Amino acid sequence: MTPPTAGPERPISTWSQTPPDTLTARRSGSGTFAPLSIEVRKKVYIESYGCQMNVSDSEVVAGILAKDGYTPVDRAEEADLVLLNTCSIREKAEYTVLQRINEMNNLKALNKDLKVGVLGCMAERMREDLLEKKKVVDLVVGPDAYRTLPELLDKVGTGQKAVNVLLSREETYGEIVPVRLDTNGVTAFVTIMRGCDNMCAFCVVPFTRGRERSRDAYSIVDECRDLVSKGYGEVTLLGQNVDSYKWRPHDVRAAVGSRQQAAGSEPPPVDFADLLGMVAAACPTLRIRYSTSHPKDMTDKVLATMALYPNICKYIHLPVQSGSSAVLKRMNRGYDRAWYLQRIAAIRHFMPDCAISTDIITGFCGETEEDHQQTLSLMDDVGYDMAYMFKYSERPKTLAARKYPDDVPDDVKGRRLTEIIALQKRKSAERMAAFVGQEQEVLLEGVSKRSAEHLYGRNSQNAVVIVPRFVSVPQADGSKRTAADHELPPGTFIRVRITSATSGSLQGEVRGVPDEIAHTA
Ligand code: SAM
Ligand code: SF4
Repeated sequence: MTPPTAGPERPISTWSQTPPDTLTARRSGSGTFAPLSIEVRKKVYIESYGCQMNVSDSEVVAGILAKDGYTPVDRAEEADLVLLNTCSIREKAEYTVLQRINEMNNLKALNKDLKVGVLGCMAERMREDLLEKKKVVDLVVGPDAYRTLPELLDKVGTGQKAVNVLLSREETYGEIVPVRLDTNGVTAFVTIMRGCDNMCAFCVVPFTRGRERSRDAYSIVDECRDLVSKGYGEVTLLGQNVDSYKWRPHDVRAAVGSRQQAAGSEPPPVDFADLLGMVAAACPTLRIRYSTSHPKDMTDKVLATMALYPNICKYIHLPVQSGSSAVLKRMNRGYDRAWYLQRIAAIRHFMPDCAISTDIITGFCGETEEDHQQTLSLMDDVGYDMAYMFKYSERPKTLAARKYPDDVPDDVKGRRLTEIIALQKRKSAERMAAFVGQEQEVLLEGVSKRSAEHLYGRNSQNAVVIVPRFVSVPQADGSKRTAADHELPPGTFIRVRITSATSGSLQGEVRGVPDEIAHTA
C-alpha cells in the first residue's frame, strides 16, 4: 500500500517491457543486390506522471506507437522520441514536469535528432505556453488525440511542431490493444471510461479530460480475458467516477438473452454493477479492483455485486475531500457529511471486512479551524485503512479559482496537513494491526524492493504483505516443500498468516497455496 503522501509528484512509470514484433525494412536497389533486412524500429521512452489513468493512457499510446514502428527503451538517453505523459491536478505536479522538460535540452544537446513530446493534461491545459515558451518541445497531444500521433510524428519529422489537443465526446480507445509498460506481469490497469461530468470546484480534470464517456463493456471483458490468458492475476478498472459508468449496447451480442430486445425495445444500459459482475463472472481467476468511486453515486447494487463475487477485492477508494458539510458544499461535491457516513455504513453492512481509503484536501477556500476539526473527527469515525492527503492547490479555470479566494495561508494548510497525516498514520497502524493473527489470501507481485530475501504481494483489502522468499510451504498432502524446491512465482495466490504489522505493511508466514485458485503454482 502506498504510504500517505503529500510528497513531490514523481514519474510513476517508464517503458520497460518486451518489444513487440520488429518491423523489417527491405532496401531494394537495381535488382543486383539481395534484399537486406535491417532493424528500423524507432525508439521511444515514455514517462507517466500523476494518476493511474495516465499509466493506462501511456499503454494505449504504446499500442498506437507499436503499430507505427516504435519500440520502447528504458532510458531517455537511448530514445529517438521522449514522451512525457503529464498531470495538472496540482501546481506542484506541473512544476515537476516543467523542470523535466527543461532537462530535455541537455538530451537534445547530445542527440540533435531527438524529438520531445508532451502528452496528457498539461498538453491540454498549457498548449500555447508549451509550444511557444519551451522551444525543446516538438509535439503537444491532449488525452483524446493519441490516435493522431503517427501523423503528428510525420509532421515533426519534417522539422515542424505538431499539436492536437481536441477533446472528444466519443473517444474511448476501446479497441486499441494496449502495450503493457513497466509491468510486473501480475497486475494491470484497464480504463473503462474517460473524462468527467462532475464539476468539483477545485478540480481541473473536466477541463483537461473533457466530457464523461463509457467504453464498450464487451471490449473491457475481452481485455480482461486477454490479461488472464497472459497470466495476469489482477486488474484495476479505472475511471474518474466509475459509479456513473453507463454503456448502451449497440452490437448484436447485447441482444442475446435480452427480453427487451426480443420485444423490439432498446436493450438496457450496462451500469457499473453490471460491468463488475460481467468481468467477475467471465474471469473467475482474476482479482478485480476499481478506482475511483464517488460518494454521491455509489449504489448498493455495486456493493451487493462486490459482496457476491469472491474475486472482486474487498477494497473501496471513496474520496471524502473534507469532513465539513459547509466545505463539501463549496467544493460542489454533491453530498454532505451525513450522506458520506451513510455510504460508509452501507459498505460495512454489505462487506464488514472491506477496507476503505480516501482522498482529503486540506485548506480549501474558506476552511475554518472548525471545518478542519470536522475532517479530523470524520477520519476518526471512519477509521480509514489508507488516505492520500493534499494541500489545496488553486487551479486555473476551476469554479473555485473563479469564485473563492484561496485564503487559507500556506503555513496553516501545512500545519493542518501534518495533523491529518499524523492521525491517518495512527489509524492505518490500528487497521493493519487488526490483521495480525489472521490468515489472508495474498497475490504475490514480486521480490520486495527493500530485501531480495522477501516477496511482496497484496491481500484483498489492498494491504501490502511481505513474506520470506525462502520458506517451507506446507502442501495439501501434509508434506513440506522449500522454496528452493518450488519457488513461488509472481502471480501465485498463497495463504499467509499475518505475524506483525506496521502502518504501511503486513509481515507474514506462508501457509499454503489455496486449491481453489491454484492456477499458477
Ligand atoms: N475522480 C476522483 C474523485 O472524484 O474522487 C479524483 C481524481 S483526482 C485525480 C485525485 C485527487 O486529487 C482528488 O480526489 C483530490 O483529493 C485531489 N485534488 C484534485 N484537485 C486538487 C487540487 N486543486 N488541490 C489539491 N488536491 C486536489
Ligand atoms: Fe475531479 Fe470531481 Fe471529476 Fe473527481 S469527480 S475528476 S474530483 S471533477
